[in-house]
This record gives sequence, structure tokens and C-alpha cells, in this order.
Amino acid sequence: MKQFHSIQEVRAYRKSTPGIIGFVPTMGNLHEGHLALVRQAKAECDAVVVSIFVNPKQFNSTRDLEQYPRTYEDDLAKLKSVGADSVFYPSREAVYPADFSTTISSNSLTHLWEGEHRPGHFDGVCTVVAKLFNMVQADRAYFGEKDYQQLQVVKAMARDLNIPIEIVPCPTVREIDGLALSSRNSLIDPKLREKAPLIKSVLDGAKFAIGNGSPVDGALQTARDTLVGAGFIVEYFSLVNGCSLEPIIQWEVDARLLVAAQLGDVRLIDNIAL
Ligand code: AMP
Repeated sequence: MKQFHSIQEVRAYRKSTPGIIGFVPTMGNLHEGHLALVRQAKAECDAVVVSIFVNPKQFNSTRDLEQYPRTYEDDLAKLKSVGADSVFYPSREAVYPADFSTTISSNSLTHLWEGEHRPGHFDGVCTVVAKLFNMVQADRAYFGEKDYQQLQVVKAMARDLNIPIEIVPCPTVREIDGLALSSRNSLIDPKLREKAPLIKSVLDGAKFAIGNGSPVDGALQTARDTLVGAGFIVEYFSLVNGCSLEPIIQWEVDARLLVAAQLGDVRLIDNIAL
């Protein structure tokens, strides 16, 4: 597995590698969710580049950025085990040199949900993803449905800016108890960990209720109340159109349930298709 630290190296690799290149952007601290993206990319492309870069521009607090887990050596071993062809691990200075001054401002999909609760987050995501796309110049990029809004925002950005890359969505990978895998799960207070899977059961409960004809408002309120009753702070629990991400009040094709809730110090997000 090749390792690149500079933009020149990863560009040279792209130029000298024939066939379809798949790209998996990550912030490291890799788990099975990330590895599933790499496996899918491996199965569908001739070579796979994985980037590891903890992007300071998409964090809302210095504390969150500082405590984000960094486990590079471990990540390398995991990537080798799934056959990634190369890892791109640029420094912060390479991505954001001192005179860096351009931001990609995100689009109509970002005024709600994560965008509302994390101001500037999607500008940071769009800026770094566009930069990484330009650095790696892959044919396809693999993103997890775990971050459903991010997936839609990145798709819209690539389309709007005519970036010649296909965005491939990949299903959410979960623990056996239903908790969606996330690098932040390791930060959950062990005493609260057993409550975390409630997010998925409540999503399933709301899906079942709405699927069986319960009014959407009532089903969503029951879901919020259940989470609050268990000690979560609920930021949103909503039914949305899966493309526009606008809230909807009845079932429609591509409808999606989105949730963000805090458990202790850790903010968890999840979603399921209806
Ligand atoms: P991150 O390192 O958290 O920025 O995530 C990198 C990529 O992995 C993003 O496309 C995420 O959506 C995806 N990802 C994170 N967790 C999961 C998961 N549990 N299942 C599937 N994809 C995931």
C-alpha cells in the first residue's frame, strides 16, 4: 500500500495509474463503516485511494477538533487488511497554506438539520471535499449514508461545480445492537453506552408507525419524547424528502427519517429510509 503526504505525489499516482480510480475521503480513526466503503470501492474500481485528513474547517468547536481521535498507525493496518491501494495523508499546511482564502459556500440543502445546528460545518465540508477531489482526481468517490445530509450536499456540490466525479452512496454499517458506527462512539461515557442503540430503535419505531398509517406529527413526537425520556437531548428528529431534505408531513417515495441527539457529551446522528 502506497502512502502519499504531498499533493504532487497523489497527482503523479493518478497520472500513472490506468483504469477507474475510486476515492474514499475520511477523517481517520477508521472503523468497519469506513472499511465497508473501501471494500465497495475495491470491488467496483481498479485502484482505491483513501484520504485521512481531520479537517479543521468543519468543526464547530476547538474542543471537538482537539479531542477527535487520531490513530494513524492503526488506520494503516486496517486499510492494508482490506486491500486499499494507497493512502493520502496530507498535512494541515498542505491543505490550507498560510495564504489560503477561498471557501465553497454550500447550497440550499444546508440551511436545515446539521447546517442549522453546526453553522459553517458544510462550508468546511464542501471546501475540503472539493479540494480533495481536485487533488486526487478520482473517477468515483464513496460516501456513507450514515451522514445522509453530507452525502446529498456533496452530490449537489459536484453537480453544481461540474466536478467530473461520480458520487457513490454506501449503506450505514452498525453495531449488532443497532448503533451506527462512528469515530465519536469511543467518546461515549461507558455508563451511557447502553442507551445509545435507542436511537436506532426509535427510528425503526417511527418508521413502523408511519408505515402503518399513524399521523407523522404524532409518530415524530413519540420518538422525540422517548429519546428525551431516556436522557438524550434531541436536536432534531424529522421526516424529510430524501432529495431536497425539506420536512414532509406524510410518507412519500425516498422519504428519510433524520435524527441528531446528544448523549452526555457526545452528539450522535443517524437516519433511515422509510
Ligand atoms: P468520517 O471519517 O467520519 O468523516 O467519515 C468518512 C466517510 O465514512 C463518510 O463518507 C461517512 O459517511 C462514512 N461513514 C462513517 N461512518 C459510517 C458508517 N457507520 N457506515 C457507513 N459509512 C460511514
